[in-house]
Amino acid sequence: MSSIQAVRMLTPGPTPIPDRVRLAMAAPIPHHRKQEFKTLLAENQVLLKKLFHTESPVIPLASSGTGSMTAAAFNLFQPGEKVLVAEAGYFGRRWVDIVKMRGLEPVILSRPAGASFDPEEIRAMLDADPAIRGVFMQISETSTGVLHPVREAAAVTRGRDVLLVADGISAVSISPVDMDGWGIDCLLTGSQKGLMLPPGLAFIALSERAWKRVETMPQQCYYFDLLQERANCLKNQTHYTSPISLLMGLHEALTMLFEFGMDAVYRKQWALTQMARTGVKAMGLELLVKEEGRCTWGLTSIALPPDIPASPVVDKAFREYGVILTAGQAELKERVLRLAHMGWVDWGDLAAGLHALAWSLPQRPQGAYLEAALEAYHTALEQYPG
Ligand SMILES: *Cc1c(COP(=O)(O)O)cnc(C)c1O
Repeated sequence: MSSIQAVRMLTPGPTPIPDRVRLAMAAPIPHHRKQEFKTLLAENQVLLKKLFHTESPVIPLASSGTGSMTAAAFNLFQPGEKVLVAEAGYFGRRWVDIVKMRGLEPVILSRPAGASFDPEEIRAMLDADPAIRGVFMQISETSTGVLHPVREAAAVTRGRDVLLVADGISAVSISPVDMDGWGIDCLLTGSQKGLMLPPGLAFIALSERAWKRVETMPQQCYYFDLLQERANCLKNQTHYTSPISLLMGLHEALTMLFEFGMDAVYRKQWALTQMARTGVKAMGLELLVKEEGRCTWGLTSIALPPDIPASPVVDKAFREYGVILTAGQAELKERVLRLAHMGWVDWGDLAAGLHALAWSLPQRPQGAYLEAALEAYHTALEQYPG
């Protein structure tokens, strides 16, 4: 269906794709076993390692993000092992489901929607049960918009024989993540959030000690065999047929990100977050994540009043204004509305999003919420603490 107005995808995946990346993916594909493609993969490795802040290979997988979560659970742990899952929402519960399917025994640390974890609690649980071999968590819980204290959790796990597995799908390339510096043992992400690419690629990197563990384990996952993938990655190949076009798009997207500079990217993401939060509050709406330091930099969740369900607002914003917002997930479906601002999104897109949100509410809010939001954006750019 064509429309006279632009469609703006302010969703936590997929996200808009820059023309440069679309064109790179439209080019004729080289054969994936020939030198031209190996050169491209070698360049991708350099950039991916810089993005993850790691010396380890960053392995691309032909799958959605959940494929890399599956690869982590099946390559790093054996059935019967105990792991801690820190869950505070829909994607945390996905960890619980995946580790159970792997036959692991999860000990679950739960937090309500909009809340985060106290790393001291993780420490206490690990102290209390030395059989726990790993900790699974999200960096950014996309169902609520909470930024979890992964750096602090890694400070707890790195001194023990416990692997920290961090789902960075809505964090990597959106807010700073330092895999080696923080001591993350397994960092993963996907293509369709901050990386300005279509869905279909996932990435996973393991620390040295995590690789040691993988090396001692019998491989039990045919497709996501990380030892095979690493051996190929070191030869600038993928084990199975490469998703060639997506990896060409990745090369262009990473080139763009480093042309801007990651600091400028994070600064923009932080300023957009301040802009969204200020605009939403100025409309008289309530933020789901109250604590400023604990909100993710790629989306803003609104806790709707009981008399305003999310779906009609989402429907109207798309129908009337061409803006794609997202309702909550699972039990939050009608109670939460998510306004995402990750990847190839700028202040103009977010202004359109705030306008569409305001005009799609049953009662149009009063006040200069757009002015306030834009002012917050510019102030935040100047005061970026990074
Ligand atoms: C989007 C997302 C996923 C799932 O990714 P898919 O690509 O849909 O498999 C997992 N975890 C987080 C934190 C996400 O934001």
